[in-house]
Formats: sequence, C-alpha cells, structure tokens
Amino acid sequence: MSLYASAYERLFRRVLYPAYESGLRRRGTLRYLREYERDQWRSPDELDALQWQRLQALVAHCWEHVPFYRRWWGEAGMAGVGDIRSREDYARLPALTKPVIRANAEDMVSPAHRAGLLYKTTGGSTGEPLRFGYTRESYERRIAVMFRGYAWSGAHLGQKTVYLWGAPVAAPAGYALFKDRLYHAAFNRRMLNAFDMDERRMAGYADAIDRFRPETIVSYVGPIVELAQWIERQGRRIHRPKRILGAAEALHPHQRELLQRVFGAPAFDTYGCREFMLIAAECEHGGGLHLNTDHLHVEFAAGPDATGPSDLIVTDLHNVGMPLMRYVNGDLGTPGAKACACGRGLPKLAKVDGRKLDALRLRDGRLIPGEYIVYLFLAITGVKQYQVVQREQDALLVRIVADAGYGADVQAQIEVAIRKLAGEDVTIHFETVDHIALTPSGKRRVVVCELPA
Ligand SMILES: [Zn+2]
Repeated sequence: MSLYASAYERLFRRVLYPAYESGLRRRGTLRYLREYERDQWRSPDELDALQWQRLQALVAHCWEHVPFYRRWWGEAGMAGVGDIRSREDYARLPALTKPVIRANAEDMVSPAHRAGLLYKTTGGSTGEPLRFGYTRESYERRIAVMFRGYAWSGAHLGQKTVYLWGAPVAAPAGYALFKDRLYHAAFNRRMLNAFDMDERRMAGYADAIDRFRPETIVSYVGPIVELAQWIERQGRRIHRPKRILGAAEALHPHQRELLQRVFGAPAFDTYGCREFMLIAAECEHGGGLHLNTDHLHVEFAAGPDATGPSDLIVTDLHNVGMPLMRYVNGDLGTPGAKACACGRGLPKLAKVDGRKLDALRLRDGRLIPGEYIVYLFLAITGVKQYQVVQREQDALLVRIVADAGYGADVQAQIEVAIRKLAGEDVTIHFETVDHIALTPSGKRRVVVCELPA
C-alpha cells in the first residue's frame, strides 16, 4: 500500500503534475516552486536584500502606473520614489484598510494588467465583502508558496491527503478542464466538507478517513479538533496519518496534544488569509512559523522587535495587477526568532494572536483576546463548544453547546472565571444552542465583538 502510495507520489510529482502545469496549462507554478525552494536556504541577509529589491520595484510600479497610489501617497507627502529609501520610509506610508480599498478599488488596478486580472471576494466575518484582483503570475506564485510551506511538515504534492475544508470545494480557477472529482483524484486527495459536520455525521467522517487512509490531513483547526474529541469519547480507533496540518486558526498546545493522542501524528500550524493565501507555516522544528518573506513583506505595527500581539501589515511582492500595499489584514501576530535549526533563512512569526475583531474590549481600554477565553474553558467540563459575544460594552452573551454534566454549577464556574478577566461590572447571559457555525473562512469564533470600531 505504502509502496503504491510513494510510487504514485513520485509519478505524480515527476510526470503527471509537471505535464499538466507546465505543458497543458502553460503555467509557471513549478518554475516558481523551484525558485522558492532554492531561495528558502539563502542567508537572512540575502533574503532581506531580495525582499527589499522586490519591494522597491513594486513601489516604483505603483507610483508610475497605479493611479490610486500616485494620488494617495502624494497626499501623504511623497514626492517621488526617491523618498522611499528604507523599510522605515516604507512604513511611514499610510496603511491600507478594507474601507479604503472599497472606495478606491477601480483606481487600484494597474491599467496594463486589467484585462488578464483574476478576482476573488473575501466573505469576511465583518459582513462586508471585499473584491480584489491579482495577476495570473501572482496566483501561480501563491500556489507555489503554499506547496513549499506544506512541504516543511513533510506534506508533498501527490501524497494521499484528506482535506477537511470549506464548501464549495471546487477546483481552483482555470482547472475547468477537469471535473472536480477527477481533479482531486488525480491529485490523490479526498475532500470532506467541514461545514456539514455535526455530531450525527461524525462517524461518516471517521469512516471516510479509515477508508482513504491518508498520509496527510489538512483541516481547519475547529473541525479536526471536534472530530478528535468525538473519536476519543467513542473510544474508537482511527487510521493514523503521518501528519496533520491545521489552518484558519492557531493551534493551541492542548489541541496538538489531543490530535497527537487520537491520530498518533504531529500537528503543524499554518497561517494564511484569503487576500494572500499562505503567509507562514511551521517547519519540522516548530517554535514558530517561517514567514514567506521572499514572497510577501510582513510588518508588525508595533515594530519588528515587538514582544506582544501587534497588527499585521502585509504587502504581496508579486501582485502588480491590483497591488495591496501595506494592507492591514485584521490579524494580530507576534514576531519570532530570526533563525531556525532547520537552516532556512526565512524569519519567524512566533504566533498568530487571532483576529482583532475577536477580542473583547473592556471599558478601561484593555483587549481580551479569544485565546484567553480558550484557556478559561480548558478548566471547564460539560461544555462541547462555546462562544462569547460582546453586544454592549458591559454585557456579554455566552453561547454554549452543552455536553453531559452541563448545568447551573458549570454556568456559575464560567461566570466566576469570566468576571476575573472582564471585571465585576459586566452582565453575563447564557444561551444554550445546538451548534456554533464556522465563519465562511473556516474559523470557529470564540469571541465575537459587536461593538462599533
Ligand atoms: Zn525551520
């Protein structure tokens, strides 16, 4: 079986995929993959220089060819590209937010690239969709960067892989030649819908994994953790993959332990967003996620040496079609180590601290990130899922999917714990529900802050 799998994997990687990507579709994906796989071993200084050279070229392109940036940066006092001589200069340019993009989308497109532009829309837990464009080259590079990042955990193209992922799970744009199923079969992968998952269907998901026997499982964190909890409660044994890749949310240490216990495999953290795809991923050495700095420019609003959560500001170095320059993607992150035992020169993101919108905002200005709520609930039994919603400054609603043993005493325990974090003045209401839905991007929001920004 494994002999077949590895033979197929080799055939796929060496013959089938190259023939499809480079021949049939005339794509650059594999060429970019080779480039990124080579560049990751460059020294930190070389990567720094490479990134800066790419950023300067993109700034010049925006200034010369993108009407919005000429106007916007001009209004901010920029007189010419000669003004941007360092990363510090670049960091003084105004940061891009969703409302600014929405108001200026047309002018943000480079006229020479308009005709071939691909488009994508972010659903957004904020409820305000955003449409953004990107070139074919930038799309192919994103795919290449994703393959590279997944490979850091040992996950390779053509390997038997189960995706517990969002619906609709269609083949990416441009793959219309393949019917979905055929496409996924050729890629040796099985798609399971993470949005259809509930208690009654859990057995079906476990059966599908047992039947397909994947080497790798790629999943949103919330659903794979729930599946693991269900398997453990049932006392069921399940096929053991070689690795699990988590996406959409950060993996907490207790979740890694659970996945290791149930699936007998290590779990790796990845971080990305719809606007840029993969931003960072863990390698075999853990201790943070390598940032794809040869592909993206990632700033921490509180500076490169910040020791706590900071707004992430991202620039895609290759999207010349509709460049998002210094885009605040709404996530908080903490900078990490500059070096890693694996020898890759890409610096690290210590951790992703969740979405800014997923933090409770206290009257005294403090933020309580969703992570705090996760840790609070670790000590609570009798609860399957939970979500804390802040609708007013001093009023919290706690949604609970109850498990055996849930009752008034558990509620009292939760209330005491929340008051320790949020203070004595808040009113706390409880609501028992059947299910807490994933967001369109696969996140299980632990905290929802509905206060106006
Ligand atoms: Zn590493």
